[in-house]
Amino acid sequence: MTIDQLRPAQGVFINNRWNAEFSGREIDVYEPATGKIFARISAGGQHEIELAVTAARRAQEGTWGRLTATERGRILSEIARRIEDEGEDLAVLEAQDTGKPIRQARADIVAAARYFEYYGGAADKVHGDTIPFMEGYFVATERLPHGITGHIIPWNYPAQMFGRTLAPALAMGNACILKPAEDACQTPLRLAQIAADAGLPPGALAVVPGAGAEAGAALAQHPGIDFISFTGSPEVGVFVQEAAARNYIGCTLELGGKSPQLIFDDADLDKAVPVIINAIVQNSGQTCSAGARVLVQASVQERLTEMLCARFSELRVGTPEMDLDLGPVINMRQKERIERMLSLAEKDSVPLLAEGKISASTDGYFVPPKLYGPVPQDHPLAREEVFGPVLSMQLFETEGDAIALANGTDYALVASVWSRDTGRAMRVARQISAGQVYINSYGAGGGIELPFGGMRKSGHGREKGFEALIEFSTLRTIVVKHD
Ligand code: NAD
Repeated sequence: MTIDQLRPAQGVFINNRWNAEFSGREIDVYEPATGKIFARISAGGQHEIELAVTAARRAQEGTWGRLTATERGRILSEIARRIEDEGEDLAVLEAQDTGKPIRQARADIVAAARYFEYYGGAADKVHGDTIPFMEGYFVATERLPHGITGHIIPWNYPAQMFGRTLAPALAMGNACILKPAEDACQTPLRLAQIAADAGLPPGALAVVPGAGAEAGAALAQHPGIDFISFTGSPEVGVFVQEAAARNYIGCTLELGGKSPQLIFDDADLDKAVPVIINAIVQNSGQTCSAGARVLVQASVQERLTEMLCARFSELRVGTPEMDLDLGPVINMRQKERIERMLSLAEKDSVPLLAEGKISASTDGYFVPPKLYGPVPQDHPLAREEVFGPVLSMQLFETEGDAIALANGTDYALVASVWSRDTGRAMRVARQISAGQVYINSYGAGGGIELPFGGMRKSGHGREKGFEALIEFSTLRTIVVKHD
């Protein structure tokens, strides 16, 4: 790719316009499959966030704030239709920006459209309650938007995250300001234009790209924000929550996991194995809800290991257009972070059971998928998030051991239980600390309809499903005294 083919920075998107004139600074964006610069984005900061907040406040007090829920829903449905219409172009852009195989990028764009379809349909179906109270009173509740919501998203699923966090917030009537990740924000920038073209009034949505410590911190700390939704690392999550506390506002945090897949001796291994593998190799393991640990009952360990090793050694890593099992990871920092964790495994003699192969011949950030086991419970590979295609196997004897292992990290996001005995599967599932537990399947975050989020170091609050509409709104109780 020559310099002429670089995708130029467009500016920040405020009031349905591209504003390039503000900071004038830019950030280089690297293509994960080649390691070369392929785009530049504008580096927004404090000033751009100020302008976005002013525009959002005006939208709240003007056209956007006056729309009915049905009218908002129609705009969201139109955004969904337009995303579908541009689906292939968006998928190619997403694949180039993140490195993911093109079929994964296509699935992500379908999901982005589905978020707008789902919340477009839901916008006018959120209502309050009436509450029995004392004689002579009528009491009702109504759900209201927070006002201005801030949204900080990571680089792993930019298009899906755009839909996941913005569609429910807009459905409830909030004016939204999005800070996408500097490593991958080409599709959020394009989707902002699509949303405006679909009829979103000026100020209802601003997208301010930029560095986390500048645009992100300015958004998180701004006193004009009424609620903030953050997805990313636990370290930045703590910063966002502290900033929210200082402004007396609420937040949702989605911070990652070390999700276990529990395999009991009566599990259908033929069905389980492809799901176990997909749960860790999807998006090269860069998924907060990746199934990063496989916990296996000792009596089936040998057979499961054999089956997993056979599949693992067939896995291939390539460029997005090669469309193999995995693409590159997002950047050199992430590659080195994963490699540091793997050298720790080597130093501590944790057995490497199998690994896949890199088939690409470019200079991208490629990491082969690896299976380790048995991994001691006190090893970082069993407790810390790698955010790469690395699966740790651990053994258990009893149900009690399995539950203790599953709950034995600081994270609590997703889990799965594989057993043909429904009683056992249910008993175990209900003792696992996680926001989502799958039985004989694994959803890696699941569908648009399923409430998703964690506990402890995985964060708090729920996005997806109807729950997101509750998160992105607040409640007013009206008490009427009558004769
Ligand atoms: P990060 O937390 O630094 O970045 C996530 C988002 O927060 C980005 O938009 C970033 O610009 C922004 N940000 C960074 N610093 C900020 C600040 N001071 N104030 C406000 N916003 C800020 O994550 P990362 O550096 O991209 O990745 C590091 C690790 O985070 C990964 O290795 C992984 O473990 C984890 N991660 C988790 C998820 C997830 O989905 N839960 C996604 C990406 C990364």
